[in-house]
Amino acid sequence: MQVIYKIDKIFVVTYSTIIVLVGLFFAFLAKSLLLIPITLLVLAIYLYFALKRSLRRWKAVRNSFPQRWREHLNRISRFYRLLNEDRKRHFERDVQIFLSDFPIRGIQNRDIDPFLKLTIAAGVATVLHGRPNWEPPTRDGVLVYPSERFNENYELGKGDFAGEAPRNGPMIIAEGSLIFSLEHPGSGYNVIYHELAHYFDWEDGQAGGLPINRLPSSVIPYWKKIIHNEWQKAMEGNSVLRPYAGKNEAELFAVATEAFFETPLLLQKHHPELYELLRDFYNVDTAELISSS
Ligand SMILES: [Zn+2]
Repeated sequence: MQVIYKIDKIFVVTYSTIIVLVGLFFAFLAKSLLLIPITLLVLAIYLYFALKRSLRRWKAVRNSFPQRWREHLNRISRFYRLLNEDRKRHFERDVQIFLSDFPIRGIQNRDIDPFLKLTIAAGVATVLHGRPNWEPPTRDGVLVYPSERFNENYELGKGDFAGEAPRNGPMIIAEGSLIFSLEHPGSGYNVIYHELAHYFDWEDGQAGGLPINRLPSSVIPYWKKIIHNEWQKAMEGNSVLRPYAGKNEAELFAVATEAFFETPLLLQKHHPELYELLRDFYNVDTAELISSS
């Protein structure tokens, strides 16, 4: 995550230049110096709105990272614990940016515990750690359900949904399932990693286990082949991934993403091609992080 979006930088510089040039042009035509302060005022108003979001992020990262937050990350995130000091600061910055710029709400306006928010932000920071130029795919933030499961009608305590990645709208997370994954590290289960993978997959409008918008086109045929082969293995019961991976190729990618961050050594040993695919996609070598610790 960045304080200022890369694309925003280009737009801001371009539009600011246009505003100044147009202002100067009319000031010259009208031979009126009054148009110069008016131009500057228009420029200031434009910059305020264009940089509002970046300003919010900038303010967030200027704050020092609270020690109790650091202790919480140390408790709940093996990924964080394995990072060197430099990488930890980068991780903390991502957490601050996410918390400042993406709403995390409870249903029916329930209050969300600040440490639960921190846990959610840490999940996002983990997945994006190797990709500092990527934005979270969850523009509408996160909606937390105060239960372990819900069903297709969003009834709490029923059904078997631990989370959901709607095409439009916030990522839905059942709080209980998130807590379960924290209490069972190494279970290969994590609802945040799972739903983020679905969002990456959705970005091209189709859910087929191929996050096409974030892949170089040259690797797509290889991805298709590996995801399909691994899905077949999961369907046949020849996979270390959770059985849910056999549902379809989209679930294969989401479950494999969970395993990539939760049980990378197992994934690397039994599914080296899938591991390498995800290592290149997320641009972080999770197995190496554990091996070298
Ligand atoms: Zn899923």
